[in-house]
Amino acid sequence: MTDSVQALMSEVKAKNPSEPEFHQAVEEVAESLVVVLDRHPEYRSAKVLERIIEPERVVMFRVPWVDDRGDIQINRGFRIEMNSAIGPYKGGLRFHPSVNLGILKFLAFEQVFKNSLTTLPMGGGKGGSDFDPKGKSDNEVMRFCQSFMTELFRHIGPNTDIPAGDIGVGGREIGFLFGQYKRIANEFTGVLTGKGIQWGGSRIRSEATGYGAVYFAANMLETRGETFDGKTCLVSGSGNVAQFATEKLNELGAKVVTLSDSGGHIYDPEGIDSKKLRWVMELKNKRRGRIKEYADAFSSATFTPSDPADESNELWSHKADCAFPCATENEINGQDAENLLNGSVYVISEGANMPSMPDAVELFIDKKVLFGPGKAANAGGVAVSGLEMAQNSMRYSWTREEVDTRLKMIMKDIHTATVEAAERFGTKGNYVNGANIAGFLKVADAMLDQGAV
Ligand code: NDP
Repeated sequence: MTDSVQALMSEVKAKNPSEPEFHQAVEEVAESLVVVLDRHPEYRSAKVLERIIEPERVVMFRVPWVDDRGDIQINRGFRIEMNSAIGPYKGGLRFHPSVNLGILKFLAFEQVFKNSLTTLPMGGGKGGSDFDPKGKSDNEVMRFCQSFMTELFRHIGPNTDIPAGDIGVGGREIGFLFGQYKRIANEFTGVLTGKGIQWGGSRIRSEATGYGAVYFAANMLETRGETFDGKTCLVSGSGNVAQFATEKLNELGAKVVTLSDSGGHIYDPEGIDSKKLRWVMELKNKRRGRIKEYADAFSSATFTPSDPADESNELWSHKADCAFPCATENEINGQDAENLLNGSVYVISEGANMPSMPDAVELFIDKKVLFGPGKAANAGGVAVSGLEMAQNSMRYSWTREEVDTRLKMIMKDIHTATVEAAERFGTKGNYVNGANIAGFLKVADAMLDQGAV
């Protein structure tokens, strides 16, 4: 670690104690930017990075709601409005028991760079709650969402801050949140993205993050003159991102052999084809069941339960060509990364946010495999959210083909910008540096233009 990064990190850790994920995200970006700040002292003297690290605003609030037994439950709600230099705050809401200030700050920080990479005018934000939708009835989820929005509504707006979904927040939750916003604000506006098609949503929004991560990987493969045809892929998670990454991989001729949830993973060497995937979608999106059930339904598959005490996750030990971590942060440690490489994986495209731990990232870069970091690889979701905002403003909606073409184009542009930035700053082929640098430059220049705000 250079002296300047070390000094910055001591300050970040002192000021933001007990936020390890936030420290991890900041350190990675700070390391990538050393060469940029050396070449551009104007960013250093204007303290641009120091300002980007400090959220513009953090809102934390009580979310009381009544469960089906009539008992009062209390959760904590958050919205981190991180940076609005290039557009209104934009980023998802996460409902998961692990949610805390540090996790949302890491996600909001990453979002600033990701949104900048999309080429669309969106600032960065993130929010959510420690509420766990698992095991709750639809009515409980609705009452929680209504209570959450009763406070959040005063902080957001179609030109101020536009939340979307993330872990635990899908179409059902966005519907309840939108309904309550509309009722309180008395206006029908594009204040949330990921809305239903009949009430202001964009086609391809649900698919966008998973499709985008596959398009990004396809762009990386193209640099070696290859395609997905005949490739074997490992996918983790079985939620929104994992489902649509699997769908697109099948479409492009690849074979997906794994999926997971927090209970463990399934391995199906015959491949999770479109029929099996439809079954998974029904299981996860309607019945809200566990991935373990897949192995009961399909005899070609085996289920391995996960044990947090294990030093590695067996999912990453299966032989394959490509890996798509699509579950959550820090799901690939150094040992998993070694297992991936030993199993012949040479393409990793992060559908999730920060799924690879720093030692895993270091190994991928050292071994010169094609490694697409989440900021770039999973930017397709927010990109189509940006397109949803554009369609809402025009009171118009594009066809599936139009949105998909734009998504493909955006992912290609992100890939090009990332490759070029890495090369321009002396680390050819390093997508991590490329994404951090390209994302930073646009925001940094806007901040210089706008003065010390
Ligand atoms: P979903 O809630 O739809 O699915 C999440 C999946 O990951 C579930 O299978 C879940 O299993 C699993 N998971 C979540 N937390 C853990 C954990 N701690 N350990 C093991 N498995 C876990 O979320 P998404 O698919 O929307 O999000 C997945 C990732 O993609 C996240 O990192 C998110 O930030 C990122 N992302 C999502 C975008 C989007 O548009 N939705 C955009 C960009 C990034 P279980 O059900 O057991 O919890």
